[in-house]
Amino acid sequence: MSAPNKSYDPVEVEALKPEQIERMRDEALAAFEAAGDLEALQEAKVAHTGGGSPLALANREIGALPPQAKAEAGKRVGQARGAVNKALAARQSALEEERDARVLVEEAVDVTLPYDREPAGARHPLTTFMERVADVFVAMGYEVAEGPEAEAEWFNFDALNFLPDHPARQMQDTFFVEGTTPEGKPTEGDESGVVLRTHTSPVQARALLEREAPVYIVCPGRVYRTDELDATHSPVFHQIELLAVDEGLTMADLKGTLDHMVQSLFGPDMKTRLRPNYFPFTEPSAEMDMLCYVCKGASVGDPDRPCRTCSSEGWIELGGCGMVNPRVLVACGVDPEKYSGFAFGFGIERMLMFRHNVEDMRDMFEGDVRFTRPFGMEI
Ligand SMILES: [Zn+2]
Repeated sequence: MSAPNKSYDPVEVEALKPEQIERMRDEALAAFEAAGDLEALQEAKVAHTGGGSPLALANREIGALPPQAKAEAGKRVGQARGAVNKALAARQSALEEERDARVLVEEAVDVTLPYDREPAGARHPLTTFMERVADVFVAMGYEVAEGPEAEAEWFNFDALNFLPDHPARQMQDTFFVEGTTPEGKPTEGDESGVVLRTHTSPVQARALLEREAPVYIVCPGRVYRTDELDATHSPVFHQIELLAVDEGLTMADLKGTLDHMVQSLFGPDMKTRLRPNYFPFTEPSAEMDMLCYVCKGASVGDPDRPCRTCSSEGWIELGGCGMVNPRVLVACGVDPEKYSGFAFGFGIERMLMFRHNVEDMRDMFEGDVRFTRPFGMEI
């Protein structure tokens, strides 16, 4: 057993002197008080209560003291640590309260403020009107048929009895789609044999080839012509086309169907009239007019009651119609001895224009919601 080291008096250990302990405690209390936020307090906590803090180191020294000195030093250090922990807890809760109060203010939501409202979208009046027209026929048992917009020249012209020299086939009327020659070069002019369809009629030819007669179809769709965009023309517009092929169909069926359509769309006292015309794919062919739905013909010859909608003519031109040319039936594999058919088509833009007094077709394409909104928000 070794003798105690005379030169070392544990009671006099520097770190355990009362004034040193007091200083450590006061430094800790001052550091906590100085901590402006929870982060700074956390740093002060580590520095003054952590394993390497002066008080922790002093506490460790107690073990080296003789028993008689241990109690007093232990009490002193214990009291200092108690005071430090109490101050820490008090500062901690004060800072937390401060933070919570600040968050409540900073993150407050004023539920009475106006918010950014996304206006609800709606479909374009051209689309909804085209569907409304198609619905008239769907209700009569017709089927909606669609076809490609980039169409084979054969379907767009040949199958519909357009002769090779028909002016509609010219580049100045029809968009030809660029293709690739067998040598891998781009085609020129009308070489490709593919056009942007100039009417919805090729859907008729496709439908007749795909279906067995009888066929009753309605074909709404987008068509293209090389027109400049102006108040009454557009290079892209919409058509709706009707085709009925069955045994024993006559012009009377066509006329009755047209009357039913305008009555469904414009009112029960509406009617249509036919004027002779020529189209390659119908024979006989007719131009169809409908009674002016505004003046019902009363403006004709009455200068006191002029009508802007029909220019006081009493009738509004709708489109073309006729009995399907037997050549078209043959081209599409239908026996013209057994079946006959009628067809008609008209432009949706034009009908929408006079139905709603739209004066400039461009308004329909510019996407300005001030134009579309009055038509309602049908989705
Ligand atoms: Zn009129």
